[in-house]
Amino acid sequence: MRPGHQSRRLVEVGDIGLEGHRPRPQLLRPAAHRPTNQALVRWFNDPAARAELASAFQAPCPGYPFLVPSSGLVGGLPWNAAYGPYDPFNPHPGIDIFGLGAEGTVPVRAAYDGWLTREPGWVSAVIIRHDDPLHPGQTIWTYYTHMADLSGATSYILPRFPPGAQDVPVRRGELLGYQGVYNGGPDARRIAMHLHFSIVRSGADGQYLNEAVFANTLDPTPYLGLALNDPDGAQYPLPCLPPPGS
Ligand SMILES: [Zn+2]
Repeated sequence: MRPGHQSRRLVEVGDIGLEGHRPRPQLLRPAAHRPTNQALVRWFNDPAARAELASAFQAPCPGYPFLVPSSGLVGGLPWNAAYGPYDPFNPHPGIDIFGLGAEGTVPVRAAYDGWLTREPGWVSAVIIRHDDPLHPGQTIWTYYTHMADLSGATSYILPRFPPGAQDVPVRRGELLGYQGVYNGGPDARRIAMHLHFSIVRSGADGQYLNEAVFANTLDPTPYLGLALNDPDGAQYPLPCLPPPGS
């Protein structure tokens, strides 16, 4: 184990508390009028509408560097969301993509070229180191989690990325695994199947910071080219933003 990792907690916990396939109104109420919440409630209350709400990305949005790493309802809980289980002091540090299909079947792909690490204790998560395409010379990381079954006995991460994998080169679009429901084990708060994806800053030692802390994450909007932060009038599925500078 590398220095600095002994004390790092298992960064697998903390996400929207959706029980089964039904939204919990008390969690969603503070932002019930927001477009992203209306889309999310529709997703869970009306499965027939899911195909209308889901996005599938075969390539990055034109002019943007990162591939959206999975298909489904993108941004149902956007970066910076301050409603439950998050709050204004610890908003949601990433984006959630709720996939269409059974757990273990919806592909999760690398957002960008980089080097993949899966720490020895990580059941459902991987992290990839990148040269920041928007700030050349800086290092950032992309983090992907919930890729296992409820108990954690079955991981949906590909066998080529086993626990303890370090600096495995991966290409943008490369398959990493499949969406799941793991959130810390059978006793953890239940979540609906989705991918939680975040962009994480480096610390002074060049290693990634704790992705569960909002201040350690970056707004994914300029990397993915999607209006992820719940703007007024947002439509789902989210369309690509115009290319930068256009
Ligand atoms: Zn999340």
